[in-house]
Amino acid sequence: MPAYDPNNIFAKILRGELPCHKVYEDDRAFAFLDIMPRAPGHTLVIPKSPARNLLDVAADDLAHVAMIVQKVARAAHTAFEADGVTLQQFNESAGGQVVFHLHFHIIPRKEGVAMKPPASEKEKPEVLAEHARKLAAALAAG
Ligand code: AMP
Repeated sequence: MPAYDPNNIFAKILRGELPCHKVYEDDRAFAFLDIMPRAPGHTLVIPKSPARNLLDVAADDLAHVAMIVQKVARAAHTAFEADGVTLQQFNESAGGQVVFHLHFHIIPRKEGVAMKPPASEKEKPEVLAEHARKLAAALAAG
């Protein structure tokens, strides 16, 4: 497997070199909205440690990220009045991975509504800003 590339897009977001719509941050994890959501509220949760994917992440970093994935999934379920939540996580190109910093997709789902295809449409910044605000509020409410 190739080495971690510190110039991947999510590493740049973590360093504040690229903008994002932040939903959550602590000392080991970060969550922000996917710019091409497959459904409203589509969020990405990543570790701060430089892990390429599930295959090289340290077990304790993965455990912490999993805890945050659950927190964000619960908040998304509430904030978007979802009927369910889909998780996705891809490893290496053959596994569907495009950005090589470990990330979990959290996608709130409505009964009978199909997800948009991957990377089909960029969402408007003002819509993402409103969705990030709603999610952050639901997280703060616990
Ligand atoms: P994958 O590696 O297959 O899980 O796909 C990467 C995901 O990152 C896709 O869902 C993209 O829409 C998303 N993405 C790419 N660039 C950005 C960005 N700058 N901010 C937020 N999401 C992004």
